[in-house]
Amino acid sequence: MRVIIAGAGISGLSLAFGLLQRDPKLDVTVFEGEKQAGGKIRTEKVDGYLCEAGVNGFLDNKPSTLELAKSLNIEALKSNDSSRKRYICLDGELKRIPETPVSFLMSNFLSVGGRLRMMSEFFVPKKVYEDESLEEFAVRRVGREFLEKLLDPMASGIYAGDPAKMSIRSCFGKVYDLEQKHGGLIKGFMAIGKENKKSGKKVEAGPGGTLMSFSGGMGSLVDALCNSLGSRVKTGNAVKGIEKKGSVYSVLTEDGSWHEADCVVFASPAYNTAEIMADMDKGIADILFETPYPPLSVAAFGYKKEKLKIDTDLFGFLVPGKEKRKLLGTLYDSSIFTNRAPEGYVMLRSMVGGARQPELGMMEPDKLVSTVRAELKDIAKVDPEPDFIWTYRWEKAIPQYLVGHHEKLAALDEKISKHKNIYLAGNAYRGVSVNDSIANSMELADKIVQGNR
Ligand SMILES: Cc1cc2nc3c(=O)[nH]c(=O)nc-3n(C[C@H](O)[C@H](O)[C@H](O)COP(=O)(O)OP(=O)(O)OC[C@H]3O[C@@H](n4cnc5c(N)ncnc54)[C@H](O)[C@@H]3O)c2cc1C
Repeated sequence: MRVIIAGAGISGLSLAFGLLQRDPKLDVTVFEGEKQAGGKIRTEKVDGYLCEAGVNGFLDNKPSTLELAKSLNIEALKSNDSSRKRYICLDGELKRIPETPVSFLMSNFLSVGGRLRMMSEFFVPKKVYEDESLEEFAVRRVGREFLEKLLDPMASGIYAGDPAKMSIRSCFGKVYDLEQKHGGLIKGFMAIGKENKKSGKKVEAGPGGTLMSFSGGMGSLVDALCNSLGSRVKTGNAVKGIEKKGSVYSVLTEDGSWHEADCVVFASPAYNTAEIMADMDKGIADILFETPYPPLSVAAFGYKKEKLKIDTDLFGFLVPGKEKRKLLGTLYDSSIFTNRAPEGYVMLRSMVGGARQPELGMMEPDKLVSTVRAELKDIAKVDPEPDFIWTYRWEKAIPQYLVGHHEKLAALDEKISKHKNIYLAGNAYRGVSVNDSIANSMELADKIVQGNR
């Protein structure tokens, strides 16, 4: 069987790898529009610094990335202990997030009223509903203070999203399930605790886990996949169109050539897939075009350690929307992982833009640098001139799962099933993370190979 995959991000590459693991005889080709593979995984080594333009790492509480790394014979790198020290910018100051539920309750991270409101979640009646925004859900169940100080910055950290528009069901499915299955969050955690005790099994409701990467950065995963796939990955040759010819598909690529395939997978971002599929099925394209990908810019600064008079041994900080700042957050990369900055130097990497301030994600590099420097000075007391500056802009960064996303998926599934052996893969649908992207691609590999038997 001939399989063509459009897009050599982690979804497309892991799908190709997974297909060949299951059936080495398959004829698999991955076409990638950019000159280099990896998509939102892009590691650049500049002047002794290791800069991640996109993906910073993955959590070890899901097995997919670790299993893939093992199959590729590459060793994952655990984040340092300092990565437990996480801060939120509140009223312009950095405040550490208490690490355990007990220390959280004992701390003044939330006001007394905020803590009482949070604990009264136990008595909030269950609501049966299809979907609502993260903001509606949080205000209803745990109160506005908890939303503004914790959930809102978390939504920025994962999705660069807007809590007023993000779908609770699609973005935080486990949290949605806690209410639907157990009647509430506290009740759900209690039930899970009991279950754990009984079975000895660890079941997590929140993100949890330890942050992982590779000593050469996330790009090591892409390099290992590309080495394994060899000439099957064709970079600099985007898929431009698709036509059905009898029982096979004919795929047009940027260099003007046509390629026959029995199975075609679009692992390209939703808006790119929409353009390719528009002639074949406008209904599918219309739905795909609905997913927004707001812009995001990244600015990494390196400093000689002794120039900074502050503690840099921490994970970083996030900035809630109510602070009305220009920064989404900053990661202290050289404290999180080893090998990120030359000996004696530290690297801080800041994010700007996202769903709430898309215009900031499109700032020119000079303006980005001066804006981030001013914010770092104000919030984190990082004043000196950086010894190293590196920036990167994603004009379309992370797909936003808006309220009703699950209905869109159901409509897409129904429409795509009419095109035999055409599939959609990638982070626009059922999970934005690297872990989810790989797990979904492996599931699809099973489906394609089983369908071929
Ligand atoms: C700034 C940033 C930080 C992130 N940080 C993390 C993180 O720390 N941890 C985490 O788990 N997730 C993170 N993510 C989410 C991340 O995007 C996903 O986890 C994952 O990398 C998505 O992979 P993908 O292959 O689905 O999509 P992409 O990486 O977007 O890959 C799609 C590929 O398709 C290609 N393409 C597009 N059109 C065509 C065409 N017509 N023909 C051929 N190829 C085409 C693109 O060039 C691209 O290479 C981050 C995202 C961003 C933007």
